[in-house]
Amino acid sequence: MARQGNIKISSENMMPIIKKWLYSEKDIFLREIVANASDAITKLKKLISIGEAKEEGAYKIVVTADEKAGTLTVEDNGIGMTEEEVETYITQIAFSGAADFLEKYEKAGGDGIIGHFGLGFYSAYMVSDDIEIFTKSYKEGAKGVRWESDGESVYTIEECEKETRGTKVVMHISEEEKEFLKEARIRELLEKYCSFMPYEIYLDPKGEEDKPVNTPFPLYLKQPKDCTEEEYKTFYRETFHDYEEPLFWIHLNMEYPFRLKGILYFPKVRKKVELERGKVKLYCDQVYIADNIKEVIPEFLMLLNGVIDCPDIPLNVSRSFLQNDREVQKIAKYITKKVADQLCDLFRGDRERYEACWKDLATFVKFGCIKDDEFYKKVKEIILYKNLAGEYRPLESFFGEEVSPEDAKAGKEPETVYYISDENKQAQYIEMFKEAGLDAIRCDTYIDPHFISYIEYKMPTRVRFLRIDADIAGALKEEGEEDKAVLELFQEALKDKKVTVKTQKLKNSAYPAVINVSEFMRRMSEMNSFYGMDGMEQEVTLVVNTGCEAVSSLKDAGEGEKKAAAEYIYLLALMNYRPLTPEELSAFTSASIRYMQSSLKKN
Ligand code: ADP
Repeated sequence: MARQGNIKISSENMMPIIKKWLYSEKDIFLREIVANASDAITKLKKLISIGEAKEEGAYKIVVTADEKAGTLTVEDNGIGMTEEEVETYITQIAFSGAADFLEKYEKAGGDGIIGHFGLGFYSAYMVSDDIEIFTKSYKEGAKGVRWESDGESVYTIEECEKETRGTKVVMHISEEEKEFLKEARIRELLEKYCSFMPYEIYLDPKGEEDKPVNTPFPLYLKQPKDCTEEEYKTFYRETFHDYEEPLFWIHLNMEYPFRLKGILYFPKVRKKVELERGKVKLYCDQVYIADNIKEVIPEFLMLLNGVIDCPDIPLNVSRSFLQNDREVQKIAKYITKKVADQLCDLFRGDRERYEACWKDLATFVKFGCIKDDEFYKKVKEIILYKNLAGEYRPLESFFGEEVSPEDAKAGKEPETVYYISDENKQAQYIEMFKEAGLDAIRCDTYIDPHFISYIEYKMPTRVRFLRIDADIAGALKEEGEEDKAVLELFQEALKDKKVTVKTQKLKNSAYPAVINVSEFMRRMSEMNSFYGMDGMEQEVTLVVNTGCEAVSSLKDAGEGEKKAAAEYIYLLALMNYRPLTPEELSAFTSASIRYMQSSLKKN
């Protein structure tokens, strides 16, 4: 005899809410139903292991779609339910669970619960007009039970014929959600949400040979020592569909004080986009939750690709709760520490490989330092920069001794480290530096300007950075007085230009003058353009090299020639600093032709 009952609480209100609020993530219903099937098998296995139930064949979950009938069915051979259990679990526990979820969801402000985890059985009403459950308990002599409800307040429950133990959930998919009857769509959902679930899942099985859609024992569950390099690479390819091999990986495996397993992969940095976002997939007991959950996984680690399974994260709470949860913060710290340790091990154990990978690692590590002080402390000694000779050296090896507070008071400055940001544009400066036996570091990732500011901020007494064109006159200074006559000559000749003139003897005698630009002003200007404001006009200083013959012989020239030569020297220096404007270029060209002609005439 069929009985009817009323689903308690204000269910009339609940279904429309489930349907409307979760509209954007309807997909999760399949995860919830398949996860229930998987749990039912786990429960049965536990009973078998303690001798409470009999073993019967292989465990599996079968998903079938019938487009004609409009039904999507998930069937398991798990523990099953008796009539009383259906009453208790489905109409009471599952229902109040869903109500509870909605309450939290509402409090958390809509999108607040990660992966909409914990909505459970009733989520299937997001896509169904009606749901039937056919189930038979593992218990000796149990009868089949059929439950049915349209998700409003009334349900029917009755005895039915069911041969096999387990549960079959038949969802009558509503007219507007027909996409969930298409095999391709269902496969996509199973691959997304269920790919690591622990029992084989079959989609519309046609014969014996059908392969499960999932991997019931994903690699990350194995002990790291039992995994081969090939297995890591295959797992990467299959999980991230990236056919480029990863640089290396970190296998996380922790039991205490919380359980966490996973693999993080460092991908090769693509040529075009320097900072491509990665994907860290979060799982809870082999059930997919969501990608890139910043509450759990430190932001900078999201440049990596990876899988993290952490059953201890409280997922059916609001995001803001997670963010402030100490346990969750510990998880993030643990992951960060493991990544830093692994990088240090590689640096110390296989420096050659580390250097070979560094190009791809650099942005990630620098970004990590800026974002996370703990990470910075752990890796600061293994940050590499290339010097002018193209050799990698740890950044700290370029620094000087720390300046004591007393010395600082007496005016002592921390060591200056010069850097280049563009080998081609700064070629003249580099050549002069090399010739004088000086060195500089190469900053060639886009994050370097931020990173060096960060290092200056962290170590104000040990280092300051100057771009090679900021103070070349200081770096290449030779003892000698300022040459007043030359100074006045250039000041007069360049009085219409926005330039400050200085004279000085430089270590290099080949170039008559160089341009210096204040580091501070340039950084300000770069910062402005970074934030979309106009770059400021930069004041340049022309340092005239009194050690160069072209300068010292100027004094003997006629007045007009002197002025023309001073302008010419200015343009020469300028073009080694930045591209000339059309006017400057035209002045430079005519002056060059003039010099060429007079030189040809002389000979
Ligand atoms: P949860 O899975 O979080 O407990 P659900 O609303 O999804 O919440 O399900 C409520 C309960 O219904 C489950 O705890 C379980 O006891 C029972 N149940 C649901 N699906 C199945 C199934 N396929 N086999 C056996 N029991 C089930």
